[in-house]
Amino acid sequence: MSRVRLLSDTLASQVAAGEVIERPASVVKELVENSIDAEARSIEVMIRRGGISLIRVTDDGIGMDRDDALLCLERHATSKIRTAADLVTVATLGFRGEALPSIASISRFRLTTREKEAVAGTEVLVAGGRIETVRDGGEAPGTQIEVRSLFYNLPARRKFLRSENTETRNIEHQLNLQAIGHPDIAFSLVRDERVVFQLPATKALRDRIRDLMGSELVARLLEVEPAKTKLRVSGFIGQAGVSRASRAQQFVFVNGRAIESPVIGAALKEGYHTALMKGQFPVTFLFVELDPAEVDVNVHPAKREVRFRDPAGVREAVVAAIRRTLESDRRSWQEQFRAPAAGDVPFVRPTHAIKASNDDAQPGFPIEMRAPAVTDNRFEPNEERRPVAEHQFRILGILNKLYVLMENAEGLVLVDQHAAHERILFEELRRRMEEKGVPSQRLLLPQVIELAPRDAEWIERNLATLQKMGLGVEEFGRHTFKLESLPPFLSGAEPGRLLQDVIDSLKSASNSSSPLRLGEEMIAKTVCRHAVKANDLLRQPEVEKLIRDLLECELPYCCPHGRPTMIQISLGELEKKFGRKV
Ligand code: ADP
Ligand code: MG
Repeated sequence: MSRVRLLSDTLASQVAAGEVIERPASVVKELVENSIDAEARSIEVMIRRGGISLIRVTDDGIGMDRDDALLCLERHATSKIRTAADLVTVATLGFRGEALPSIASISRFRLTTREKEAVAGTEVLVAGGRIETVRDGGEAPGTQIEVRSLFYNLPARRKFLRSENTETRNIEHQLNLQAIGHPDIAFSLVRDERVVFQLPATKALRDRIRDLMGSELVARLLEVEPAKTKLRVSGFIGQAGVSRASRAQQFVFVNGRAIESPVIGAALKEGYHTALMKGQFPVTFLFVELDPAEVDVNVHPAKREVRFRDPAGVREAVVAAIRRTLESDRRSWQEQFRAPAAGDVPFVRPTHAIKASNDDAQPGFPIEMRAPAVTDNRFEPNEERRPVAEHQFRILGILNKLYVLMENAEGLVLVDQHAAHERILFEELRRRMEEKGVPSQRLLLPQVIELAPRDAEWIERNLATLQKMGLGVEEFGRHTFKLESLPPFLSGAEPGRLLQDVIDSLKSASNSSSPLRLGEEMIAKTVCRHAVKANDLLRQPEVEKLIRDLLECELPYCCPHGRPTMIQISLGELEKKFGRKV
């Protein structure tokens, strides 16, 4: 008895919808992408009850004639590709011809559309995939699609929906992606009859980000430095020290398509390296453009992922772009704010301090080290209370044996002594490593250490790097090594444990990193324990030196793990706290 049967079109669409349409946000994504492909200049989205009760997307794009309005609801109907060759170079966001029939098969669906020159438009009503009404309609040129009662005929699916708030957040995120990817299109979102945002079209990505995310974030973004490579990386990234606990503000576009890419995600992390705290994610609005033949966009039903032909090349280009941008930011502020006449007086740009306030900082604050009288290791209040001139810092004292309190024209600056010392040590060791290697001290008793085979293999591969780091390790038989010398700052450590520590903490990081990277990683992970302990009471000249050294660092505003070294609390913020200002 034969058992194989063809699925009905409706059922086939519902099955396809299972992949393409996971939740209301997927509907929004597909409809908005269609509007973008239809050359819309303005896209309005309205949702009710997290998109479950209603999603309506209205555009002013090219519209469709009656035939197309009916055909677009068939499976595999698309105007965007014709041949397999087109698929290789596809420049539109859509190409699968699956979204509209899928959505129409799992909702109560209404399409109205009109071409610009047409006398009349078309209205099509569909329920659960069955066309119920076709008539003249469609007022303004463009297309409007209404999706009501999503999953009404798939109760199992409906059960998987999250709360209305969660679904709304997903929709908002989806629209953020589209809006950032297409600043030249006006977007609006209305949620339960309230306007969430209304974004005017703009040529400048920066303006779009500001309209969406606020000027405080924009003030802390850097424009990606261009490079002459085949693969173009552009957009904006957060300054060192700007990060989030999730990927929610990690926007990545490949050839204009918002995607999630482990390759690029890893590259971002590597690019930021020590400017990022563990478990934190960088803030990026990154656009990667490359020859369409170099990426396969047809690997994910929701087109959320892509496959690169040369992932290593993409990774390299992104890492280089991030490093170049962070580096040039550091150079530019050093040049800009370093006063040649002031000799050794260092400067800091306080926008880099992680600000506790919303007030915008002014750039350029040289440090002033007026030595307050010192007695008994403690800071006396400064006698001469001259007002702090613009561009100057004055050390006020130490809080809780840990935080250096400073005053500048803007208000209060707190420096975490421990984090500051870590940053200074880190950069010093890295410099030495890059130059001629970290000096090494011979151990009185060389240690012979036997390692697990996998660890032994790792050590063998990285011997040169370890030696540059001042770890005198040599092979001494099968899986056995002799440790003869250590850098002075590790002299207190127990050599066997230390080597195992180094292996454990670096093994995972080292798969693809360069020797220099590995060295950096190792310094970051070891200096921590050797930096000034939080409650070491520093004498005043030591504090001054600490602050000077910190401000001389390449990245003074965060420790090697990306935690902030300084925080600015503005006078405005204090005034608010004391109720002087409302
Ligand atoms: P795809 O986008 O992969 O082609 P869809 O099912 O999303 O498949 O859409 C099918 C076709 O319907 C599109 O190729 C396009 O020609 C037409 N279409 C869909 N939405 C719009 C719109 N907003 N404006 C004009 N045409 C549209
Ligand atoms: Mg589409």
